Amino acid sequence: MGVAKNLQAVKDVIPSHVTLVAVSKTKPDEVILEAYQAGHRDFGENKVQDLVGKQERLPADIRWHMIGHLQSNKVKYLAPFVHLLHGVDSLKLLGVINREAEKNDRVIDCLFQVRIALEETKFGLPEEDLKQLIQSDEFAAMDHVRIRGLMGMATYTENSNQIREEFRQLKRIFDRLKASQFKNQESFDQLSCGMSGDYALAIEEGSNLVRIGSLIFGPRNY
Ligand SMILES: *Cc1c(COP(=O)(O)O)cnc(C)c1O
Repeated sequence: MGVAKNLQAVKDVIPSHVTLVAVSKTKPDEVILEAYQAGHRDFGENKVQDLVGKQERLPADIRWHMIGHLQSNKVKYLAPFVHLLHGVDSLKLLGVINREAEKNDRVIDCLFQVRIALEETKFGLPEEDLKQLIQSDEFAAMDHVRIRGLMGMATYTENSNQIREEFRQLKRIFDRLKASQFKNQESFDQLSCGMSGDYALAIEEGSNLVRIGSLIFGPRNY
């Protein structure tokens, strides 16, 4: 199947400032190892149980990204090792992450998931709610989480103009936050958007972290 070849083909076309998260959800350990042996270290999963199992079985220097929706009661399983949480979308969840990070004597890197898709089904915070969260006293008191940036998912559509507009919107929100609430915070520097079907568009619109699964590992069988 040529996972290493697919991986290289993706790496050849994305600029060097863009981080590639290889989305290995539903895929067995062997194919992840194939990518690992080709030198890749950033992998993404969207289910806590799968992520924990793979982390236990696979090499310890893999950087594991949780890209799916995260429930508060499962944060404890990821807190000891997770590299980046992409889907943070509530103050309550962030509070739990902060507490579990403290128990593990860590500071956990997080992205706020912003609602950019026009369709109803996606998770994420509208910009106004996000601003309120950031301005809250509770947020100010959390010193075991570090907000690295934003994550967004475009509408599932063939309309590339709409997708582009949604990514552009996410970048605008990112820039506004970077110029205000996260001013002087150099570590607020990650914009996670773009998947197999729309990563090129996303990078054109300012993404520096793409999450690519099927293009590397082939289609998923659920
Ligand atoms: C599955 C998934 C991806 C990767 O999707 P592909 O289309 O296979 O590249 C990216 N981001 C999230 C949040 C996902 O759940």
